[in-house]
Amino acid sequence: MTQRFDDEWQLKTRLVHGGTLRSSFGETSEALYLTQGFVYESSEAAEARFKGEEPGFIYSRYANPTIDMFEQRMCALEGAEDARATASGMAAVATALLCSLKAGDHVVAARALFGSCRWIVETLMPRYGIESTLVDGSNLEAWESAIRSNTKLFFLESPTNPTLQVCDISAIAKLADGIGARLVVDNVFATPLLQKPLELGAHVVVYSATKHIDGQGRCLGGIILSDKAWIDEHLHDYFRHTGPSLSPFNAWTLLKGLETLPLRVRQQTESAARVADYLADHPKIARVIYPGRADHPQADIVARQMKGGSTLVCLDLKGGKQAAFDFSNALKIIRISNNLGDAKSLITHPGTTTHKNLSEEARAEAGINPGTLRLSLGLEDAADLLADIERALAAV
Ligand SMILES: *Cc1c(COP(=O)(O)O)cnc(C)c1O
Repeated sequence: MTQRFDDEWQLKTRLVHGGTLRSSFGETSEALYLTQGFVYESSEAAEARFKGEEPGFIYSRYANPTIDMFEQRMCALEGAEDARATASGMAAVATALLCSLKAGDHVVAARALFGSCRWIVETLMPRYGIESTLVDGSNLEAWESAIRSNTKLFFLESPTNPTLQVCDISAIAKLADGIGARLVVDNVFATPLLQKPLELGAHVVVYSATKHIDGQGRCLGGIILSDKAWIDEHLHDYFRHTGPSLSPFNAWTLLKGLETLPLRVRQQTESAARVADYLADHPKIARVIYPGRADHPQADIVARQMKGGSTLVCLDLKGGKQAAFDFSNALKIIRISNNLGDAKSLITHPGTTTHKNLSEEARAEAGINPGTLRLSLGLEDAADLLADIERALAAV
């Protein structure tokens, strides 16, 4: 029987029980329906299901019980009416942007985007006649003056990768509402626990579930959440006919990840805040950007729209690229990897990895200096992480 979710439940309860679809065996843990298709009792039953006269599953590209549980649990978390899970975070972004746009439309996006998101806006969309303007996401006037008569969609990420810049989601949502456009927010860095874009007025939220939602480095996944009318109108057919769907196995992994999400995000955020404070006072560090600190460039917006500072810290070493490399190489617990949101603490040098394809000017504009590092805090003991950082800084 279906255990959807009870509006009365608090978040942590929703993350354990929301969306559960229990089979006749009464299993405790969610079942993994690793199946492509479904059989029908009769040809009449198949006909009725295809006509939509009878509920039920047809094919796993359209929907699958395990994927459905993951989508429903995410709706319960986000406070969204409906959702569609995708094979990766990029499938979620590409689908959310392209499903409702057509040639002749115009998009306004924050310049500080995850590399592949920027490629979709700057390189892919123009091939299909969709124009775009990239703006400084923290400058509200820049958003406003980029609006054209054919602007249909706004797109941003907040906090941004890797410099943790913050955009004013409710103010930008109001601008979108004013012209009948939609605001799509990539909420990966904030996690669904520390920021609720739909409550702030955004129309669509996308996640790379690969990050905190799995949170244990196992599988890729993504999800798009919005109101039912938008999903029915723009996503339903696009999804069925282009096939970005999540695998049931990955949906099951992500579903189990959601059960522990609040515990993990809380501990990782506490560690990030401690590490940010430690680094800010260190003589070899030129700059620390952490949304939980009073010296964050948009601290007032952070206070209004976020419940915590995130699990990531952006730092700059005084000695530039060589110092950043020496520091990263000297770390023993924190490993060098471009991933984030994992149980394992990970550090990356964006200038030579995730953001290497940007021109030097574009990198400088995004605040990525030769000494910039992005640190994703994991679940290790914070004292061990601080000791690792202290020892590695001494080696620089
Ligand atoms: C990782 C990431 C993506 C892409 O997600 P994948 O699951 O790797 O495809 C998109 N946006 C942000 C902000 C990310 O961190």
